[in-house]
Amino acid sequence: MKQLLILMLITIAGAKPLNVVTSIPDIADMVRMIGGNRVVVTSLATGKEDLHAVPARPNFLPILNKADLLITLGLDAEHAWLPALAKSARNPKITEGQAGWISLEKGITVLNKPTTIARTEGEQHPEGNPHFNVGPQAGHQMAHNIANALTRADPAGKSVYSAGCDKLCEQICAMETILAKKGAVLKGKKIVAYHEDLAYLCAYYGMIQVGTIEVKPGVPPTASHLKKIEEVARIQKADLIIHNQSQSAKIPKKLSVSTSAPVVKIANAVGAFEGVNSWIELQKFNLNQLLKAVK
Ligand SMILES: [Zn+2]
Repeated sequence: MKQLLILMLITIAGAKPLNVVTSIPDIADMVRMIGGNRVVVTSLATGKEDLHAVPARPNFLPILNKADLLITLGLDAEHAWLPALAKSARNPKITEGQAGWISLEKGITVLNKPTTIARTEGEQHPEGNPHFNVGPQAGHQMAHNIANALTRADPAGKSVYSAGCDKLCEQICAMETILAKKGAVLKGKKIVAYHEDLAYLCAYYGMIQVGTIEVKPGVPPTASHLKKIEEVARIQKADLIIHNQSQSAKIPKKLSVSTSAPVVKIANAVGAFEGVNSWIELQKFNLNQLLKAVK
């Protein structure tokens, strides 16, 4: 018995942790919460960038080269920068389509799904809206998808991942109670979004998106489009104009002057601002930003 215990301790002490790389810090935070000591996790993006266009840094390739798993949001959100990088990293198991490349959209009710998949004019959401991490309602599914991916890659850690997932889901439930109570006043508020990244947030709080500053996801506004949005925002009496950390406030501020709707800056990823260090903090931060503006 004693020998078995010593052997088990040696095995645990010597077990190599699962090396997980994630596209954005939201996923890294959840992997850390679920995997504990069985994983080491690195996020490529810092959360300050535009998720669709994260500039490659020199350390990305060595990080990807050593990865056991690469976990992404999916729905082609990272299409412009990640598949090519993963391919260059000389680590075939994590290239797109292989077992080590994980997309988290499974089980998510995808919003803004197009009838045909196209990337014309730089369309960044060809498979539907990939910003489900911004919506509080996606937390449980993201956690379960991550726990399943970790378990598939490291079956011996199943009980650890299952317990980690349960613990995280408990915290998400507690968060949802707070958000539902505090966020009730947002129901029916009309918003103008800069990018199409607020669909899940709007659905959760019952806000209504009356316009989008970008012509299409990733396609900058033209003068005629802005004129149209300004008119719509005025006629619809928009309550808020919302942009994220990676976008200039210039156009939202201009729209705010002509429509009298306040500008709100939200985080569309963990790490976007100081104090937004976890996915739960992201949800609380965004709610507070919205509440400050409607008051
Ligand atoms: Zn987008």
